[in-house]
Amino acid sequence: MAEHPDDERAESVTGLEPITDETVLDRCRAGTDAVLAEHDPRETFGWDKRDAKARFGDVTDEVSALQQRLYAEGERALLMVLQGIDAGGKGGTIRSVMNQLNPAGVSVHGFGVPSEEERAHDFLWRIHAHTPELGKIAVFDRSHYEDVLVVRVKQLVPESVWRGRFAHIRNFEALLDDEGTTVVKFFLNVSSEEQRERLQDRIDDPEERWKFRAGDLDDRALWDEYQAAFQDAIRETTTDAAPWYVVPGDRKWVRNLVVALALRHHLRLIGPEYPPAEEDIEHIVVT
Ligand code: ADP
Repeated sequence: MAEHPDDERAESVTGLEPITDETVLDRCRAGTDAVLAEHDPRETFGWDKRDAKARFGDVTDEVSALQQRLYAEGERALLMVLQGIDAGGKGGTIRSVMNQLNPAGVSVHGFGVPSEEERAHDFLWRIHAHTPELGKIAVFDRSHYEDVLVVRVKQLVPESVWRGRFAHIRNFEALLDDEGTTVVKFFLNVSSEEQRERLQDRIDDPEERWKFRAGDLDDRALWDEYQAAFQDAIRETTTDAAPWYVVPGDRKWVRNLVVALALRHHLRLIGPEYPPAEEDIEHIVVT
């Protein structure tokens, strides 16, 4: 068992039944009464690290096959929203999960501090421009949720404004769903201690240092305010059409598998099909 650190052992060690994928997703799916403190960032669902990594490969193979159909069909789309604190693993999730997909059918867009032009429009203007075209998967690295998170915590607009945005977000996401785009949202739930270690690693490692901004420490000092803002945003905007998943984020291999399982689940629900081929081509021989 030398290669299995204690905290990474399978549930079989404790004699419990292996947990099903559906149960894992049910436990991560947030309700309108979600309590973030009840979601353990170090959760492993009894998975073994090596098995989980192997399963990640199998699950992403299926995700990739479903993506190919989605692309070929060209009638539905999927928008994956990633939110989390600094060093929460948004970039790592994108690298691991999207790496397995056909790049022609995927777009990734990061949303930073709005430009002057963006600020001169409503908060959804810049977001809508990057939603996926039919047939594609788009990933948002931060999103319209910043407008009810950082904007709230840093008091950039009055409460009446950010609070009103919850309804606008629900309506916006319902619109996307009605028009063929499934919206799936992930909160990468990382513990305060894990964030501390990751930020310290960024400072200590010359190849990671470019990612560190002094502002990350200002945001870390507002930990409780951010957690409260995330919790409200999740409660206010989790819907059947656009669910939130609270993903255990401290262990990257758990995080990656949960995100891949959720992606597979929603792509299966979409159920894309290859378009019919032209008639009478089976007998054609290309010379
Ligand atoms: P990341 O931290 O995701 O790697 P950046 O270093 O570019 O990327 O940080 C993006 C910053 O932009 C974050 O601090 C985030 O809070 C901020 N930001 C994003 N959207 C908004 C917004 N609508 N209003 C104000 N700040 C925003």
